[in-house]
Amino acid sequence: MAIEVVIPMLGITIEKGKILRWLKGEGDVVKKGEPICEVETDKLVTEIESPGSGTLKKILVTENVEVPILTAIAVLTEKGEELPAKYKTAPGAVPPPPASASPRELPAEKPIQIPAPSSAPSARPTGEDYDVTILGAGPGGYVAAIRAAQMGACVLLIEKAELGGTCLNWGCIPTKSFLSDVGTYQKVKHSDLFIHGSKVSMDLRKMVSRKNKVVETMRRGISLLLESQKIRVAKGTGKFVNPKMIEVSSNGKVETYQTRHAIIATGSRVASLPNVKIDGKKILSSDDVINLTEIPKEVIIIGGGVIGVEFGTIFQCLGSKVTVLEMLPQIIATEDDEVIRGLRVLLEKRGIEIFTQTKVVSASPKRERVEVIIDREGKQEKVLAEKVIMAVGRAPCKEGLDLDKIGIQMDGKFIKVNSRMETNVEGVYAIGDVIGKMMLAHAASAEGIVAVENIMGKTREIDYRKIPSCIYTIPEVASVGLKESEAKQKGYEIQVGKFPYLNNGKALAMGETDGFVKIIAEKELGQILGVHILGEHATDLIGECLLAMQVEASIEDLGEVVKGHPALSEMVMEAALDWQRRAIHLPRR
Ligand SMILES: Cc1cc2nc3c(=O)[nH]c(=O)nc-3n(C[C@H](O)[C@H](O)[C@H](O)COP(=O)(O)OP(=O)(O)OC[C@H]3O[C@@H](n4cnc5c(N)ncnc54)[C@H](O)[C@@H]3O)c2cc1C
Repeated sequence: MAIEVVIPMLGITIEKGKILRWLKGEGDVVKKGEPICEVETDKLVTEIESPGSGTLKKILVTENVEVPILTAIAVLTEKGEELPAKYKTAPGAVPPPPASASPRELPAEKPIQIPAPSSAPSARPTGEDYDVTILGAGPGGYVAAIRAAQMGACVLLIEKAELGGTCLNWGCIPTKSFLSDVGTYQKVKHSDLFIHGSKVSMDLRKMVSRKNKVVETMRRGISLLLESQKIRVAKGTGKFVNPKMIEVSSNGKVETYQTRHAIIATGSRVASLPNVKIDGKKILSSDDVINLTEIPKEVIIIGGGVIGVEFGTIFQCLGSKVTVLEMLPQIIATEDDEVIRGLRVLLEKRGIEIFTQTKVVSASPKRERVEVIIDREGKQEKVLAEKVIMAVGRAPCKEGLDLDKIGIQMDGKFIKVNSRMETNVEGVYAIGDVIGKMMLAHAASAEGIVAVENIMGKTREIDYRKIPSCIYTIPEVASVGLKESEAKQKGYEIQVGKFPYLNNGKALAMGETDGFVKIIAEKELGQILGVHILGEHATDLIGECLLAMQVEASIEDLGEVVKGHPALSEMVMEAALDWQRRAIHLPRR
């Protein structure tokens, strides 16, 4: 049977490829996996491998012609097989297919439209059985959908808003786009390398516009990935009719789908305090903040958790006077005590005011500003700001799913699951923020993969001890495993290895000397129990520690790795050596 050679997806942001060179000619016999042409994109040059064995019967796209990815560029046939009629119309050296001829072309810059159910290439129509139906296309849902399709399932993915969920559209990616912008601004502003008297300032409108482009690019990428996996996307709001039947409503139209398994991945939404009303103008949710176009003079952030300190960093860098109000004795309360203290000092040094053990009594717009009444150790005080950002956490999205109708058990306000991501209802799984375990994008994705692999017959359990937590302040925080206090409470006899950024050549060269790498390991055998990093690129540095924990390497193994010099990652090696009291760039102790 004839096989089409297409330009595969080469990266989620790559939309087109140019045929640089054909390595095989028409009539050549090729083997599966053999390189047959070279393709150039705006990011890379790569060889395209033959998807099967046979004769390269027809080249459909000539050299130096650019076409959208997933476009058919050649046809292979079996020995003696005729070229199918549909490819015969094109003459010998075929000109590029007209843009509209590509079955999967995307408009250049327009935001992606989630395809209507009927447009799915090979998915089954309404009413027929799906192997796996997923409610919600955030990092939990869309990753689960891809894994299920990879494993051969027929998949339906239901999304009521945008592909990518909170993470891509209102959370991780928008805030990291802003943090990258303000990071550059800070470097320029505080460097004495520039000619004195020159003034730099930030344009929040441009930051928002750049953020929107990043988000749109990634949305297009996800859409292409889903399409390449032949996953059917239904746009609308899903709910259960019964555990094996899901109803999707969109603009008054209702469709029902049969499914063997369902995964609830509906995520979370902004939570508020009962005494504070988010108005979207002066009292803002995180969803509102990412579209602000003017830098406020003062910002009060209610909540000193991850989202609160990240927004605090962004607005302090932009020049706002920032006050963080936290009810608990510390900000980022789930982190290691030393990291908490270190980050607090650094944020305060930058000018962020932090009030801990502080309750918000009320917040009310008053003329140009918002008046916030706080209670500190029993005394009421008034603080004023142009904008208030609500960052007290997130609530699970479960309303309207008719979970009670199918008898789903809850764990407080979240859906209850076991370590295989199974709910109490057979065939129904739940993942991501809606189960409230580790409300992070990569945790949602990991849970999604565990759910799918169990559905598809493997035996998988989630292990939260090896999932990192990352905070994108300036500098960053990253951690995995046990905190020092937890390790002691659990009865481990531990030794701590620590290395400061100040003693690392690359950190000094970069002018980024705040922070440390701290590794907690069991004293006798060197089992790594936890890693805590405060400092520039902490969220990248944690990667090798995750791998070490995954493969159960000892802390001695971490210390023996020879690092390139100079590199920030030398600090992981030095912290591991410090655990043995033999770090090279620390004084004897
Ligand atoms: C400001 C902010 C910054 C963040 N930064 C980070 C970060 O840097 N790193 C990190 O790991 N995490 C971060 N997070 C958390 C991260 O965004 C979430 O943990 C992650 O998005 C959860 O993924 P999810 O798939 O469970 O849910 P979501 O991403 O919330 O996706 C759920 C999807 O389900 C859809 N949906 C809901 N109900 C229905 C229904 N009935 N029918 C159809 N569709 C439905 C929603 O529209 C949504 O698209 C941040 C969050 C915020 C708010």
